[in-house]
Amino acid sequence: MAKNIGLSVSEPEELCDDANCPFHGTLPVRGQVITGKVVSDRMMETVVVERKYLHYVGKYNRYEKRNSRIHAHNPPCISAKTGDMVKIAECRPLSKTTKFVVVEVARS
Ligand SMILES: [Zn+2]
Repeated sequence: MAKNIGLSVSEPEELCDDANCPFHGTLPVRGQVITGKVVSDRMMETVVVERKYLHYVGKYNRYEKRNSRIHAHNPPCISAKTGDMVKIAECRPLSKTTKFVVVEVARS
């Protein structure tokens, strides 16, 4: 049975024994929740999530496209793949660059 992690997301169907899984382990999530697209799943249990946004440039009265890439822990019960739209939640730092964890995949 998965824990309630305090976010309105559907819990994963599979189980896992990952200590850094917010549903089946002991990792609390708090802070930001971000939606983005997985652009790489080649690391072990970590994915790269890209977020695109528009930044306004006043001088030209136009927007420029920008994007940011965030490393997120990918628990085995979720195992997001490249191309998936995912919801990631902020957690404690899991490594030098990983401070988010994948909490939901929108497969459609
Ligand atoms: Zn899990």
